[in-house]
Amino acid sequence: MTNESNKGVREIRINPIVPTESVLVATARGMRPKKAEERIERDTRTHVDTCPFCRGNEDRTPPEITRWPEQGDWEMRIVPNLYPVLGDDSPSSHIAFGLQQVIDGYGRHEVIIDHPDHGIILHEMREDHLSTLFALFQRRMAELYASDRRLKYVLVFKNFGPAAGASIPHTHSQIIAMPVVPENVQNEVTHSREHYRKFGQCIFCSLIDEALTFEATIYERETGQIRRKIHVGQYVIERGERFVAIKPFASRFEWEIHILPLAHEADFLQASAEDLADFARVLRRTMARLDKVVGGVQFNFFLHSVPHGEDYENCGDSYHWHLEICPRTSIPTGFELGSGLFVSTVSPEEAAEALRQVEIDELP
Ligand SMILES: [Zn+2]
Ligand SMILES: [Zn+2]
Ligand SMILES: [Zn+2]
Repeated sequence: MTNESNKGVREIRINPIVPTESVLVATARGMRPKKAEERIERDTRTHVDTCPFCRGNEDRTPPEITRWPEQGDWEMRIVPNLYPVLGDDSPSSHIAFGLQQVIDGYGRHEVIIDHPDHGIILHEMREDHLSTLFALFQRRMAELYASDRRLKYVLVFKNFGPAAGASIPHTHSQIIAMPVVPENVQNEVTHSREHYRKFGQCIFCSLIDEALTFEATIYERETGQIRRKIHVGQYVIERGERFVAIKPFASRFEWEIHILPLAHEADFLQASAEDLADFARVLRRTMARLDKVVGGVQFNFFLHSVPHGEDYENCGDSYHWHLEICPRTSIPTGFELGSGLFVSTVSPEEAAEALRQVEIDELP
């Protein structure tokens, strides 16, 4: 912990990857402008008779797209979302009137039932289960990209808890194949491409290098006092053989964590079985740390990978796939929604330290 964190930090930090996004880090005592988001009571039941995602209730979901394994009891299933946000062609596609442009809401919205156990949470799933799940994500994403040229992006994400958007408590993830690239991914693509053009380096790789090796002391110019010390590994939460979990220096959510492959890779679909095994290990250990520090927290995760299609063919060197884990510990304020400036009442350095210090060696 550095000196200044005792008296509190109040500064605006610019997201290095998306400079249009910034966060106000305000940790001083008495500066608690946000309301805490509710934690979820753990539901540890393995089976619920009325749950459409539990085993034995397969006829309560729309007809299945795929399951794994194909024979015997399933471990994971993919089904269409009963209330899709995007769907089949509509007759009113592509309207353009003045500045009003409409793209047809064509797309696919599917649910991946992660695990047969109703109330299981991520870090309780076995590592080989998680790596099989990621391989299933890959397979379905590839199928969707191949199914229709209009699909520009396939987003895999998870909502855990009602505040994070999950309407069914049984563990599940979602896939949305959409006719546009989401704005935040597009911003990352644009800025990282620009960075690569200027410096010949992937900005995500540079951030990983900084997180792993950077050491610096910043002094107050007038007084010569230490303003900030940046330590080696200060932002690293968890490190595997092939993946690293990092607390971003500037992030929207207090406990936000990103997991990235250590070796440069733009496309999640290119990750090998060995990659996915280590990814599973790092994710599981990271979620166990989060659970110890902010147990029962509602969260989202988003898989960001280079979009497919000819506009993105030259992004292989500049983009770097990653998973963003966004725990919902506080309710966004009107100030945040109106200004686009996120407020973080926990400094990223302190959050990283708290997560790193958790003992999780007993993880089965
Ligand atoms: Zn269930
Ligand atoms: Zn990279
Ligand atoms: Zn991202």
